[in-house]
Amino acid sequence: MHDITDETFDQLISRAMGEMPERYIEHLNNVVITYADEPTPEQAHKLRLRGDQLLLGLYEGIPLPQRGAGYNLVLPDKITLFKYPIVAISHDEASFYRQIKHTLWHEIAHYYGLNHDQIHAIEARWHVLGSLPLQQNEAR
Ligand SMILES: [Zn+2]
Repeated sequence: MHDITDETFDQLISRAMGEMPERYIEHLNNVVITYADEPTPEQAHKLRLRGDQLLLGLYEGIPLPQRGAGYNLVLPDKITLFKYPIVAISHDEASFYRQIKHTLWHEIAHYYGLNHDQIHAIEARWHVLGSLPLQQNEAR
C-alpha cells in the first residue's frame, strides 16, 4: 500500500468520479478535482489540524447554494484528495479505492452546501443500512 504512484492515484480518482451517481456529477460546475501527497502547511494551519489528525480531502471554494447572479469569472473551486493520509488508513487496495470514493463524495457534498452535521447524518444512515457509500442500495 505504500507504493501508490501518482498515476495510479489519478486513475483511481477518475474511476471513482466515473462511478459517482449522475445526479451528483451533473451539477458540478467550475470545480477542479486534483490531488496532492498531503495538505500544505497553509491548509493545515487554516484548518487548525492537530499533528495527529489525518486530512483525507479538502473542498475549497464557493458552494453552489451561495453562488448568486454575480458568480462569473471566478476561479474554480478545488477538491483535493491527499494521497498519504488515504494510504495511511487503507489496509488493502479495495479499502484504498473505497476511501477515495468516500472522500470524493464527502467533498462534493460540501460543494452542494452540506455541513458536517448533515454529512454525518447521511453517513450514519448508511451505517444503519449496512451499506457502503455509493453502492447500489445507497440511502438518499
Ligand atoms: Zn468535510
